[in-house]
Amino acid sequence: MPAMKVCIVGSGNWGSSIAKIIGRNVKASNRFNPMVNMWVYEEMIDGKKLTEIINTEHQNVKYLPGHNLPRNVVAIPDITEAVKGAKILVFVIPHQFISKLCDQIKPHITEGTIGISLIKGIDEGPEGLKLISDIIREKLEIEVSVLMGANIASEVADEKFCETTIGAKNEANGLVFKELLQTPNFRITVVEESDTVELCGALKNIVAVGAGFCDGLGFGQVSSTTFLESCGVADLITTCYGGRNRKVAEAFVVTSKTIVELEAEMLNGQKLQGPQTSAEVYKLLQKKDLVNKFPLFSAVYQICFEGKEVKEFITCLQNHPEHI
Ligand code: NAD
Ligand code: 13P
Ligand code: CA
Repeated sequence: MPAMKVCIVGSGNWGSSIAKIIGRNVKASNRFNPMVNMWVYEEMIDGKKLTEIINTEHQNVKYLPGHNLPRNVVAIPDITEAVKGAKILVFVIPHQFISKLCDQIKPHITEGTIGISLIKGIDEGPEGLKLISDIIREKLEIEVSVLMGANIASEVADEKFCETTIGAKNEANGLVFKELLQTPNFRITVVEESDTVELCGALKNIVAVGAGFCDGLGFGQVSSTTFLESCGVADLITTCYGGRNRKVAEAFVVTSKTIVELEAEMLNGQKLQGPQTSAEVYKLLQKKDLVNKFPLFSAVYQICFEGKEVKEFITCLQNHPEHI
């Protein structure tokens, strides 16, 4: 079989950390083409294109400063050029951009291409919840696995030890992705329940916003088998201590600024997934008449977007149907 060319679709904080791993791993295996394309959403940094900076200085100075990217990772601003010839697509962008990007990629997909989504989020479909991997599957008509885990991008880039979970309905593809992504300090378990893995990754972001509210209010930190993998409880704990969702939610309480303002101020272009996921989940809960059954998810949404007083966060939980 010819060596498979990899394209990383995305180059934010997590995308750049993963590029470090992929760039190194492709060189160590005959299975992969040694050159990796990385699609970069182009922007200007001090008068220079980010792609040019990455290709000359080999560093994503905006989204993962201080880390060198392997030289075989090539930044490309044009998505159609980036995916040309790729047999493996690694999706790692904030979830709100996926649909449009898939439309741009579709005409360039060739037979036998496979994908993996590292995107934590969900979307809303006509029948209810829609997984991001389902959007990719439907739009591109390719087999898609997912990778979710207790992984803070900068820690993975620092090569600190952590585990993660690949959900792969196709076992052989799961093993290809494991070979592409595992390192001595980034340990991968492959499970078949891909949808569960993906839901864990998406929903924990809402809980992380709630954890930030608790910290902001001075309440102190918030302390089945797939849930015991890295994508489950471990990610929940990680994100509630170390993640961006928690940090911004805490500042939301302390500063009284909006989530949008704080995202812009604190994250330098990085994107929060929790508030938006809470909005998508809330619409779904409304449709299914389940708002009262999910007080935490609903309260996070109402506080983020409907001006509900953050002080009422605890009241919502006190009125949990389980306790009444
Ligand atoms: P990020 O938060 O750094 O997001 C910013 C990225 O979005 C940049 O690359 C930016 O160029 C791009 N962007 C901005 N506007 C855009 C547009 N209109 N269209 C397309 N792209 C645009 O990104 P990230 O941290 O790599 O997150 C990607 C996914 O990975 C998310 O679903 C996140 O939940 C998940 N994730 C992140 C981490 C982490 O620690 N950062 C860890 C695990 C999973
Ligand atoms: P944040 O987006 O809240 O930083 O969380 C990153 C993550 O997914 C940790 O696993
Ligand atoms: Ca499904």
